[in-house]
Amino acid sequence: MTKGILINYEYCTGCHSCEIACKKYLDLEKGEFGIKLSETGPYKYTSGPVEGKWEWAWLPVLTKACNGCADRVEKGKMPMCVQHCQAWCMYYGDVEDLAKKMDGKTRWSLQTFEGQ
Ligand code: SF4
Ligand code: SF4
Repeated sequence: MTKGILINYEYCTGCHSCEIACKKYLDLEKGEFGIKLSETGPYKYTSGPVEGKWEWAWLPVLTKACNGCADRVEKGKMPMCVQHCQAWCMYYGDVEDLAKKMDGKTRWSLQTFEGQ
C-alpha cells in the first residue's frame, strides 16, 4: 500500500523543525533539503470573497531527496520530520487511511515519496 505524509498546514507554525531534523537525518549540505517549507503571505486581501482577511501560511514540501525514512519506519519508528513536528500537524501512514483524516474544514496536504 502506498505510504505518505499528511500535513494539516492550518496548524503549521513555520518553526522549521521538520526541515532541520530531516537535514540532519539525510546529512545534506547547506541549501539542500529533504523537506522544505514554502511560505504564502503575509498579505491582506483587497478583493474577492475573502476581502479584508489575512493570508499567511506555511507548507512543508517533500523533495526528491526524501526517502520516506525507509530505514526508520521499517523498525516501527516515525519519520524524523513527523517525530519532530512541534505542532503535531504531520501524520505518516497509508495514503488511504491518511485521506480519511481530511475533514474538509481545515487545509491539508497529502504527499507521497518518489519511487515508493
Ligand atoms: S520522511 Fe524522512 S526523509 Fe522524508 S522528509 Fe521526512 S525526515 Fe526527511
Ligand atoms: S515541524 Fe511542524 S509546525 Fe514546524 S514547520 Fe514543520 S510542519 Fe510546521
